[in-house]
Amino acid sequence: MSEQFETVIGLECHVELATATKMFCGCINEFGARPNTHVCAICLGHPGTLPVPNEKAIEYTIKIGLALDCEIAPRSLFHRKNYFYPDMPKNYQISQYDLPLCINGHLDVEVDGDARRIGITRVHLEEDTGKTAHAGATGRIGGAEYALEDYNRAGVPLVEVVSEPDMRTPEEARAYFTELRGTLEALGVSDVRMEEGSLRCDANISVRVAGDAELGTKVEIKNLNSIRSIYQALRYEQGRQIDAIKRGEKLIQETRHWEENRGVTSHGRSKEYAFDYRYFPEPDLAPIEPDPEWIEKLRAELPELPAARRRRFEKEYGLDLSQAVLVGGTGNDLLGRREDRPPGGIRLGRADRGDRRGQEAPAALGCLGARERRRPGHRGESRPRRAVPQWERGSAQRAGRPSDEEDERRGEPGRGRGAAAKASRRLTSRPAPFRFRI
Ligand SMILES: [Zn+2]
Repeated sequence: MSEQFETVIGLECHVELATATKMFCGCINEFGARPNTHVCAICLGHPGTLPVPNEKAIEYTIKIGLALDCEIAPRSLFHRKNYFYPDMPKNYQISQYDLPLCINGHLDVEVDGDARRIGITRVHLEEDTGKTAHAGATGRIGGAEYALEDYNRAGVPLVEVVSEPDMRTPEEARAYFTELRGTLEALGVSDVRMEEGSLRCDANISVRVAGDAELGTKVEIKNLNSIRSIYQALRYEQGRQIDAIKRGEKLIQETRHWEENRGVTSHGRSKEYAFDYRYFPEPDLAPIEPDPEWIEKLRAELPELPAARRRRFEKEYGLDLSQAVLVGGTGNDLLGRREDRPPGGIRLGRADRGDRRGQEAPAALGCLGARERRRPGHRGESRPRRAVPQWERGSAQRAGRPSDEEDERRGEPGRGRGAAAKASRRLTSRPAPFRFRI
């Protein structure tokens, strides 16, 4: 990039949480099930239904916040974000707005040997939308004869991690995203499978003349679903914006899409502003006021995170930083179980070293043992499971034909309504608003 320009990048990452059930109802949270089999009156937005928050999702969000050195808000609120879209049956999304669960954190990354601290603006909790399949030759909305909706994903707990615009190169963005993904994986709060949409990224990028205090016009690149796409889309967009500025063209604030096949971004739509969504506090949910003792308990439960693990590997096994970055950054769960292996067992091939900047293949770890495989299409197989309360299990059973895995889940001890009420008191000092039973 030309010396006279400076690029400013911020990332918004969406993380589907690996809870057993959805955010506000008892439907099973599972990828790959037959369409519309994990749905109920609540996640389909039927009139008269009321949401009940999933305690495990709040716990996971707080753990993410703690891992990113955030402040955990003593009081946060759910808001309604209103917009009409076919994949959202309620016509609003329960999200968080000005009072998110976690704020003011940071994540430290290494780029070409230099340490960089990337600020985290906020970590908030919301619900995912359903999925639309456009039926036509291209799979895109233009030219489609009709669309199909699958609401299995509607209501799945979704965390948004918003960074400060602290990154200056696509390489830094790639390092940040890789570190974030490794951290989430170490926490065990998500399966972080980008190919299944468990982890998605929107990138904001602008370019300004170096030394300018004012930021350039921001473009948002939506739904980047691999680390490679994030890097390539940012590289392309950086070049496009610099060329436009050099030609004297005025950039517009817009949303753009990354076209993987063509290697370009294309115009999506003009950017919405917060006021377009008519946010207002969700009247059916009490504020979240987590007990400080609970927060400290969660802090004590945090596992060793990739950065700490790298430092330990450097110290204990004498790995140099590049080897430690590779090992600590991509092999979380594997190394967690193999840490007693002698350091001689760690060998890095040439191709593997090429991976250290954040590409996905953890091939270098093959010599340590096979990477854990979960059954395809099944979320949460190896994660701590949420004990599904009686009132939630009832709705899950009615949501569709139970699979063997669901039978297995139902065999877990339920907490019963008394335990659910106790959990509710831990989350909020106010009485639970109402428990809807279906
Ligand atoms: Zn449901």
